[in-house]
Amino acid sequence: MDSQIEEIKNKLNVLDIVSAYVKLTKTGVNYRGVCPFHSEKGPSFFVSPARQMWHCFGCGAGGDIFEFIKKIESVEFGEALRILAQKAGVELKRQNPQISDEKNKEKNRLYEICELACIFFEKQLQASDWGKKANEYLLNRGLKLETIKKWRIGYSPDTWQGLSDFLVGRGYSRQEILKAGLAVQSEKGKNPYDRFRGRIIFPIFDQNSRPIGFGARVFKEADKKETAKYINTPQTPLYDKSSVLYGINFAKIPIRRLNQCVLTEGYMDAIMCHQAGFENTVAVSGTALTEKHLPILKRYTDNLLLSFDMDSAGDNATKRSIELAESQGFNLKVINIYNNAKDPAEIILENSQNWENSVKNSRGIMDYYFDSSFSRFDKKTVEGRMSIQNIILPAIKRLQNKIEQSHWIEKLAQKLQVKESSIIAELANIKVETNFQEQVYQNLLKRTQPIKINDFTTEGRKKMLEERIVSLILKNPYNLNLIKDQDLELFSDDINKFFEKIKKESEPIFALDDESKTEEKLKAVFADISNQTEHKIFFDTLALKAEVELENEGPEEIELCLCGLKDIRLRNILESLSLQIAAEEDQQKIEELKTEFNKKAKELHCKN
Ligand SMILES: [Zn+2]
Repeated sequence: MDSQIEEIKNKLNVLDIVSAYVKLTKTGVNYRGVCPFHSEKGPSFFVSPARQMWHCFGCGAGGDIFEFIKKIESVEFGEALRILAQKAGVELKRQNPQISDEKNKEKNRLYEICELACIFFEKQLQASDWGKKANEYLLNRGLKLETIKKWRIGYSPDTWQGLSDFLVGRGYSRQEILKAGLAVQSEKGKNPYDRFRGRIIFPIFDQNSRPIGFGARVFKEADKKETAKYINTPQTPLYDKSSVLYGINFAKIPIRRLNQCVLTEGYMDAIMCHQAGFENTVAVSGTALTEKHLPILKRYTDNLLLSFDMDSAGDNATKRSIELAESQGFNLKVINIYNNAKDPAEIILENSQNWENSVKNSRGIMDYYFDSSFSRFDKKTVEGRMSIQNIILPAIKRLQNKIEQSHWIEKLAQKLQVKESSIIAELANIKVETNFQEQVYQNLLKRTQPIKINDFTTEGRKKMLEERIVSLILKNPYNLNLIKDQDLELFSDDINKFFEKIKKESEPIFALDDESKTEEKLKAVFADISNQTEHKIFFDTLALKAEVELENEGPEEIELCLCGLKDIRLRNILESLSLQIAAEEDQQKIEELKTEFNKKAKELHCKN
């Protein structure tokens, strides 16, 4: 497998891969553009063809082509491998017969089954009598023929074994058909029967447009009351309803381009939006927005426009999704479309301009909380007031901006006709979860990637200084001479090891007389060592940093950084001395410690 990864890397150029998604311009030996992974105005996203890597100095994301495809397509490594292998024209060899391989094989067969079922349903829509009627119905609902083709809408015949027999005829077992969610087990001993019968079929695609499940709308039996209007594929190895975003395969690029995503509730809503040119739309199907949806959306945008049913404000699922999205840094707006109990599809069918206006007039989330809770609950009763407060107070509490906060406190006080002070008192009792911030902070501390610049903790500052020094040494190997042996203890372990190794191996080169080749040889040694370490990408990133950010910095900067590191260490020593002084009872010892303390304190800021 490793050799195949190398083969793919050799055949592809990071510049080609990235520029298919990001507009890049040349700057020196590198290329820069606006980062697709965080919102920014100035471009801090760089691609280095020489190192075959990319890195964003704004959000810290970076890596090789595999990392890029994983992130931009929101896929796991295996899927990234598949995508890149295809681009490189490399046929992936089967791994040794291991369990994971068996699993892959099973999954691949499920993909094949879903694809074949999709074709089967499409044909039925065109050819069968009821299919034609369903087609007619879809056209009447405002879908164009090319839309039906694009979204591969189909019809499932009203038979018990039609699809199953078709798939068995293609070499798939009934067990596999069950596993793909397309059949239902009947009594023991009998064959499973088709899950979808007499229904209009909306295939659900993954981000790469492969069908993984199906949504089915009642059609033939539409008048029967006991029939569910929509049924879906159950949980399968391919289909997880809590992470599926219907239409994401078509919407992902427009979402990124517009930096905004419209979330709707139904298949028809998403399809009609796309048909009318609002291509940044997806639907969450049969579920609220979940925590699995959010990381997928986060790859593309921070801005979500919700067009969910207004009445569900008090509904826990909606509330939780909104809180979840807010806590993960999404900007949320709500599209009010339910004035006349119409859904987006109906609005667009009437006049797409109306939909455009609705989107333009979407309101901030606080307005949404106010409107929905005050329209739902009676503010004249105690229970009503409690319910209103339960919705609005946590939302106010979560606001970061104090001015904004006091604005909403004032408004709530007015509407409930109470004193602001009593609202503020209530507010103090509310706890807001901070798990997410905590998590972000923890991630910052992990040194898998160079740190973000805005980590102002001592630990963050230390890493920043260390990284600047390493960057500058990678840029100019001669700078290595500025790091004296006694300085090595200033650095954290992994950097320390890197320096030790590099110093040892470059000693004979420095000893050479022929200066003309020294730099070249040193660089080769550096490259060699950073290649050996598990932190290769880390060192590569620092080298890139030196090129794009520290262009004009030299030895003085290294001295300053070293000085900063010494300060940090001194402060640690001073802190522990003062703890010792506080704990010590022997007066003479205290005096000694104080002398030591003052001596060390004078060394601060490198005033030797
Ligand atoms: Zn970025």
